[in-house]
Amino acid sequence: MNFDLGEEQRMIQETARRVGADFGVDYWRAKDAAHEFPGELWRAVCDTGLCGIALPEAYGGSGLGMLELVLAIEELAAAGAGSTVGQLFILNPVFGGVALAEHGQEAARREYLPKMVAGEMRFCMALTEPDAGVNTTHIKTFAERTSSGWKINGRKIWITAVPDSHTQDAGRGAYPQAGRGGAQDARHFAVHD
Ligand SMILES: Cc1cc2nc3c(=O)[nH]c(=O)nc-3n(C[C@H](O)[C@H](O)[C@H](O)COP(=O)(O)OP(=O)(O)OC[C@H]3O[C@@H](n4cnc5c(N)ncnc54)[C@H](O)[C@@H]3O)c2cc1C
Repeated sequence: MNFDLGEEQRMIQETARRVGADFGVDYWRAKDAAHEFPGELWRAVCDTGLCGIALPEAYGGSGLGMLELVLAIEELAAAGAGSTVGQLFILNPVFGGVALAEHGQEAARREYLPKMVAGEMRFCMALTEPDAGVNTTHIKTFAERTSSGWKINGRKIWITAVPDSHTQDAGRGAYPQAGRGGAQDARHFAVHD
């Protein structure tokens, strides 16, 4: 088996290295000290197409895979971002993007994915509850159909990036798990405000 990287993969590494060079350790120290979201870095990631690497071309992505995504994350992390940049990718193109691309309704894909790839919309993922961590079958949040859509009731804790997502004009997407019947009856909801 040949584990050498292809030309496209090396180009992704090079692009990520270039973006990362503009956001070195001093940038991240300043962000940490100010408790600020690294909006400039994420804007650069989206402008260079790195956010959409593993998302379908039909929604603005590059149609590549997790390996290519990881190559980009590795380079950005090595430049100074550390694990933080991995979380940004996990929340946005992975939890938000891949979940929508593989399991979302077509209307939701068309509405959210291009905005995510362009950096106009940032996502968070809300799974954990006060009484349900690793054991997701204990989740109590429940979604009920109403005449105008869905009503979602429940409590979520430890949801990374919620405060930042609230302050963005583009809004946010969250995924409360719903269903009284446990794992078999679970759904994901994209909640946008
Ligand atoms: C920094 C940070 C950011 C987070 N961001 C998010 C987020 O964005 N979105 C989100 O949804 N959640 C988030 N979480 C929550 C995280 O996903 C939960 O902490 C995780 O799911 C574990 O749940 P818990 O802490 O309730 O642990 P528990 O489920 O209570 O488990 C505690 C320990 O017991 C073990 N255990 C549990 N059940 C069993 C069993 N039956 N047998 C043997 N061992 C068992 C577990 O392996 C674990 O070691 C975040 C957490 C942290 C710390």
